[in-house]
Amino acid sequence: MTALSPEEQALVDPIDRAPILGHTLEWAAVNSGTANLAGLADMAGRLADAFAALPGEVRLVDPAPIEKVDREGTLRPVGHGRHLVVSVRPHAPRRVLLTGHMDTVYAADHPFQTCDWPDADTLHGPGTADMKGGLALMLAGLLAYEQSQPALGYDVMINSDEETGSLSSAALIASLAQGKLAALTYEPALPDGAMARARPGSGNYAAVVRGRSAHAGRNPEDGRNALLAAADLGLRLAAGRRAGLSVNPARIEGGAPNNTVPDLAILHFNLRPATPELAETAQAMVTEAIAAVSAAHEVTIHLHGHVSRPPKPITPGTKALFGLARKAADDLGQPMHWKDTGGVCDGNNIAACGIPVLDTMGALGGAIHSPDEFLLASSLDARARLTALVMHRLERQNLSA
Ligand SMILES: [Zn+2]
Repeated sequence: MTALSPEEQALVDPIDRAPILGHTLEWAAVNSGTANLAGLADMAGRLADAFAALPGEVRLVDPAPIEKVDREGTLRPVGHGRHLVVSVRPHAPRRVLLTGHMDTVYAADHPFQTCDWPDADTLHGPGTADMKGGLALMLAGLLAYEQSQPALGYDVMINSDEETGSLSSAALIASLAQGKLAALTYEPALPDGAMARARPGSGNYAAVVRGRSAHAGRNPEDGRNALLAAADLGLRLAAGRRAGLSVNPARIEGGAPNNTVPDLAILHFNLRPATPELAETAQAMVTEAIAAVSAAHEVTIHLHGHVSRPPKPITPGTKALFGLARKAADDLGQPMHWKDTGGVCDGNNIAACGIPVLDTMGALGGAIHSPDEFLLASSLDARARLTALVMHRLERQNLSA
């Protein structure tokens, strides 16, 4: 218990679980599925009120316009909620970025909408670990840090579209990452405290295949079957799977009545390259497959999408940041280790800007993206103490040291 200096002890001692749990329960009760714009507006208002307790400017930023391919193969605008940004000491020489998301994977009509307590430490509920608990403990950690004559400046960014790939907030994240010495992202850690290390990249794509319709009995030879071409494309893409590159043909839309050669099919697929080199390999493989299928089936194919989550390899800066956080966790009596994961998050986008990032600073919990999602309530105040201590030490230590 001598691991903390008296100053550090005074920093973390006042942190209390009750207000953090209070915010978590209040926010988890608001449905904020990525498509629920009214729910997101409600959440943004609540977060703006709560984060106004920090000594900084709070603003809501309009989402960047985003289009998506609809069932007819046409691009249509998709609505998103506004993103919250809080800037504290914007002119400080040493600044940090803290990020989280207010959206969840549970739509307004999903059956999982309320919280309960399977046992005294387990809070089961939608968006508890991922990540309303993380937002609440981030705020508590920052409020504690603000009591210590702080010098570190920081931006807090809470987006509304993380669960669908942060397409409308990617440019905002990249601009806020500029000039920061480190970033902390509040995705949940595993129940045993395991933190995410390397993450693969991820890209979602839609290939719009247009052929030519014809009567199935009278002149099928005049038709160009878009459905068959889309299926062929899916098979060729899947054949490109290799170590470090997962390819998932996920869905084909389109088709026609049984008496008609279909002239439209849309293949949706996901690519996950582990490294930037494999991201390039994947891109070349897709281009080649599209050319081959277009020629073989005499169809036209328009590809939409890109690797929107770049692969997150581990840099020396990220290792140093993890070292600082692990030491802080050890000193607080919270053992911490890290391991690679297959998931992606805003930490990918921040790492692509060359900023060291630790992206599982949130609550301990599990079964996220499922009706079993839970968080461990004892981690709320524990991890708020970790945030306060990490901020305090980032103010004083160089990551390269
Ligand atoms: Zn999340």
